[in-house]
Amino acid sequence: MSDRVPKSWSVETLGALCKFTGGSAFKEIYQGKSHGDYPFIKVSDMNLEGNQKFITYANNWIDQETRACKNFCVNRGHEIIPKGICHDRYDDHEKTSQKERTIQRIMQSFKNLAEGTFDEAFAKIVHTKLYQIRLLRHNPEWSMSSIPLWILALVLYDLCYYWAHRMGHEVNVMWASHVVHHSSEYYNLSTALRQTSTGALFGWVFYLPLAVLGIPWQMLVVVGLIDLLYQYWVHTELIGRMGVLDRIFVTPSNHRVHHGQNDYCIDKNYGGILVLWDRLFGTFAEERDDEKICYGIRKPLHSFSPIKGNLHYYADLWEMSRAAKGWRAKLGVWVAPPGGWTDEPIEHFEPRTFTRFDVQTPAPLRWYVALQCAVLVPFVSHFIGVAKGLDRGTAAVYALGILVTAVALGALLERFVWGKWLEQVRLLALGVSFAAVPQWFGFEAPLLLKGALLVLCVGSVVWLNRQSVAPANAVGVAA
Ligand SMILES: [Zn+2]
Ligand SMILES: [Zn+2]
Repeated sequence: MSDRVPKSWSVETLGALCKFTGGSAFKEIYQGKSHGDYPFIKVSDMNLEGNQKFITYANNWIDQETRACKNFCVNRGHEIIPKGICHDRYDDHEKTSQKERTIQRIMQSFKNLAEGTFDEAFAKIVHTKLYQIRLLRHNPEWSMSSIPLWILALVLYDLCYYWAHRMGHEVNVMWASHVVHHSSEYYNLSTALRQTSTGALFGWVFYLPLAVLGIPWQMLVVVGLIDLLYQYWVHTELIGRMGVLDRIFVTPSNHRVHHGQNDYCIDKNYGGILVLWDRLFGTFAEERDDEKICYGIRKPLHSFSPIKGNLHYYADLWEMSRAAKGWRAKLGVWVAPPGGWTDEPIEHFEPRTFTRFDVQTPAPLRWYVALQCAVLVPFVSHFIGVAKGLDRGTAAVYALGILVTAVALGALLERFVWGKWLEQVRLLALGVSFAAVPQWFGFEAPLLLKGALLVLCVGSVVWLNRQSVAPANAVGVAA
């Protein structure tokens, strides 16, 4: 506070300074109440080295017109302001501890987001009011090398996951997406892989707070992956109770409850890694020994079609919305809980009379579908590997090919006649195009592989021709 604020401090002065230093680190010149009506420049907060360079420049700069010099200060809010009103100089930054910087960074990120998201007035309130709190006056880093911060990021991610998952069960339009994971009437490791194709629609909203906290996106990607991979192993009936762990972490036992359609299982155990969130928010239920869990959903899918699996509940909502009277009711359908706006207890489910969906597909056809699924795996892996490098149209053609394969194989399992025709057309298209094109989406296949796939496809067409597929009535098998 020792330096007096120069009278010559103006937008023009800052403009001239920006020009002098090249201005690469600067965003814009602002003028407002934040710094007593003095204009200020926002500096890129990602470029600390650039900021330091600026300070050196600024302190050696003499404005040719006003003769003003050494009057600049970069504060910890990454603003260039008059030195006389600067309470928190950037060059003190190095003196702050790692812990302090973390908190500072969190709040700085909050401020940045607020400024980017809300209107100018709100941004200024956030800026001026929050910055009066001492902790917010600095520019901390969310260090990628700090193990406690990684753990904190994972725990916070898991908390966001809890709410995303919970809303996935309690809001119709989100349940329409998440239902894919629950429509399986079997519970094994493959259930974990049964993921929605429409999850990107709303899921991201729940992770926004993590961005607000300034967690680097690289960290979010990694902890998100850890959270997802953790959930793989819990989809099994082979591991029983795990004692106290069942009350802390998500385990096979408490996740079985999540997948059950028994009365006591509905809307329970939403956790990703920690089931503590459920205990905290009142959605925890322990597995019972006296009642066998029946997996699946109350309105069974009764289909092997991936299209129906992904879209059936959207279709139901569309129908319900069309039937509703008035725009409020029409919109309300999409945000209502799956059971509707009611305090009535859900309809009783009787586990003893439950049967699983089955269509008694002949064994040769089952083996055939298994073989084609095995052939599909390297194609899907290849698609995932190259999709980013392909233009949209080409990627869409590849994705469509994979989707048609899944639809055809599902229809074959259900013994639809059209499934047989679709599968034969698909086989010919695949075999011929794989053999004919010089490169399969960037992959130069050896001649031997091209020949082998062509033989497999043509052979499959001939074999399928001899198989009788007749529409089969769905039958149940004991659960
Ligand atoms: Zn779920
Ligand atoms: Zn699950």
